[in-house]
Parts: sequence; C-alpha cells; structure tokens
Amino acid sequence: MPLLARMLAAPLVIDVRPGAIAGLAALLTDRKIVSDGRVAIAVGPGQGDAIAGALPPGLGDVIKLPDGGDDSAVGLGRDLRAGRYEAVDGIGGGKTIDVTKLAAHVAGIPMVAVATSLAHDGIASPVSTLAHESGSGSYGVVPPVAVVVDLDRVRRAPGPLSTAGIGDAISNLSAVADWELSAADTREAVDGLAAAMARSAAHAVLHEPGPGNTDEFLTVLAEALIMSGMAMAVAGSSRPASGGDHEIMHAINQLYPGTASHGELAGLGALFCTHLRGDLAKAELISACLARHGLPRTPADLGMSHADFAKAIAHAPETRPGRYTILERLAMSEAEIADRVEEYARAIAG
Ligand SMILES: [Zn+2]
Repeated sequence: MPLLARMLAAPLVIDVRPGAIAGLAALLTDRKIVSDGRVAIAVGPGQGDAIAGALPPGLGDVIKLPDGGDDSAVGLGRDLRAGRYEAVDGIGGGKTIDVTKLAAHVAGIPMVAVATSLAHDGIASPVSTLAHESGSGSYGVVPPVAVVVDLDRVRRAPGPLSTAGIGDAISNLSAVADWELSAADTREAVDGLAAAMARSAAHAVLHEPGPGNTDEFLTVLAEALIMSGMAMAVAGSSRPASGGDHEIMHAINQLYPGTASHGELAGLGALFCTHLRGDLAKAELISACLARHGLPRTPADLGMSHADFAKAIAHAPETRPGRYTILERLAMSEAEIADRVEEYARAIAG
C-alpha cells in the first residue's frame, strides 16, 4: 500500500500561558511521562536558584548546570543515568534547554522543555546548540516530549532580551526565501510542509501588532518559535529557519563574540538579506517589526562599524559550507559588499 501521509514526531503537550509552571507536576503524571519514577529538574547557573526556589514542592531533584557548554550536557547526561531518572525538565532560557535536550538524548529519557524566555527557536527543535572549546556546535537530538512556556516568567525575565526570539522567528522569511533561491539555482528540494510552518510562524509575529509584553503577543511569539522548531524537525535540518540570516549571525559571533544575542543577530541578518534580495516591501515590514520591538536593524545599532559589519558579511558563507543563500548567489567582492552595506544603512535610516 502506498504511504498516504507522513508521520511526524511532535510534542505530546504544548502549554503556553501565564503561570504554566504550576501545572508541570500534573502534566507529567496526566500524560504518563512519568509513572512512579524520579524526575530531575535542570536549571541554569544564572536564574537557577530563583527558578528552583519558586517551584512547587516535590516536583523533582534540582540539578544546577555549571554553564551552557557541551561538558555540562555530558555531565548532566551521566547524572541522569546514574540517578535512574524517568524524565528531566529543563527549566530556563535557551542555553539551559539546549543542554538538557542533549543530556536527555544521551540518557535516553524524555525531556520537557520549560521556557522562561523567548530568545530563540530552540524551545521545541530537534537541535541542541552548545558552546565548546573552539566555538559552538549543533547536535541533532530527540525533540522535547512536552513544551511549556510560562508567560509570567517570560515577562519577568531579566534584561530586554527575553523576547529577542522575535528576530529569530521573522528570520524564517529570509531562510525560506533562500531555500527557494537554492531550489531555482541548484535544484535543492524544498519541503513544502516545513516551509509552510516556518513561514506562517514568521508572518504571525510580523503582523501581530503588540505591544510586546501582552499575553496576546507573547503567545503568538511562543507559538511561532515552537512551530519553527517543528518545521526543522519536519525538514530534518535547520533549512526552514536558517539561511544567509544565520550565516551572518554565526559570522558576527565568530569574529566579534558577545556583540548581541542569537535572536537580535538573526533578525538583523534577515533584514540585510531581504534587502540584498531586492524584496523591498518585505524588508520594510521586517524593519518596522524589528523597530517596534526595539531590536537592532543596522551595524550602528549593534555598535559595529560598517567596515567590521562588511567583514562579517564576507566571512558569512564560510560559517555554513554547503548552504546556498543570497550571499552565495551574489558572491560579492569586498568592494561590492562595502557598497551594499553603505547603501543598506542609508536605506534603513532613511
Ligand atoms: Zn535561529
């Protein structure tokens, strides 16, 4: 019999609402993620103590991660096996969730992602990005069995970056456009379902007016980031959510570490690539969305000179060999890049 539909690995539960952490224990037992076994709760080094202190009593054994590196993931994986845990909750920002995802994967137990910030689309994705001694690496992992986003926690998260995932979500528009460019130029196959999920998620954020701290906007953003992660699971790669935009993000991270967060750089990279593609109507929409939410749009917004930004654009294709985007199509010389950066900065400012 021919295959009439494809089966997708997807989380059993998606729970996005204010106070969602209070329902965590019930979620684990009601959905039979745990029966009578032990639950580990991984929290990060920064907000970990505050998060652990506010958890309902008896939820599980709290394990504090030393950092967001791959050694932390290996260590947590060992602790999970040694403690014979039945499931692990990763509660925190993107780094804590990424470490916990890989640890749960190597320990072979289900993982519940509990997001307290909306900084990037790793919440529900099958990818764990971790720092190591020579930069950072991305590892394919089993996606979370449940995804919980506590909107109260997101709103109270320290720093203005807890919603930088706005930039990561709308970068899907650029990533999918790059994918279609590659289909035209290199005959790379586009997965229509993954593209539909990634693009719809981006459009939801692009057109939801805000303000950015309302339940309504944060719900749209959380759902968009979850859908982006699932689009990657459907595609079997990061392609629907990572094009020239993310090459620029990786390049800035490699050349000028600590400049800005993943979401901020992905959003700016998407705006620059959309401008390069000549899609000025889309660029205007993306620019307005980034501005509305206080995210950077120009090299100056990042505190970077045009010359340093141009260096990052030249380096960007090397960060992701084999991925064809607008940057690979244009294959610009250094002089061309310098001209395009000047022209871009004028257009955005103007
Ligand atoms: Zn991203």
